Parts: sequence; structure tokens; C-alpha cells
Amino acid sequence: MIQQDLLEIICCPNCKGDLTYNEQTSTLTCASCENVFEVADGIPILLPKSDGK
Ligand SMILES: [Zn+2]
Repeated sequence: MIQQDLLEIICCPNCKGDLTYNEQTSTLTCASCENVFEVADGIPILLPKSDGK
């Protein structure tokens, strides 16, 4: 679960796009750049992907 008001505040760390919560996978997906972020204990882990650099 994630709080709805928290969802409205946060945005994608890569492109500042809107994030959509997926209840089945408990992840947030960016509508713009399609990055996926995990949610741990209701806290979104909004770390930009490093792409293995
Ligand atoms: Zn994005």
C-alpha cells in the first residue's frame, strides 16, 4: 500500500513525470520515461536508475 497524498507529491527522479502505482507488483511506474520504482513499507524508493555504470 501507499498513501494517496504521498502519490500526489512524488514524481519521477529522472524526468519529473507522474508516477502510477501498480498494486499487483507494489511498484511505481513513470508515465513518461517508463522507469519502475519499488515501494518498501509504503515508502517509494525513488532512486534514478544507474544502468549498471
Ligand atoms: Zn520518468
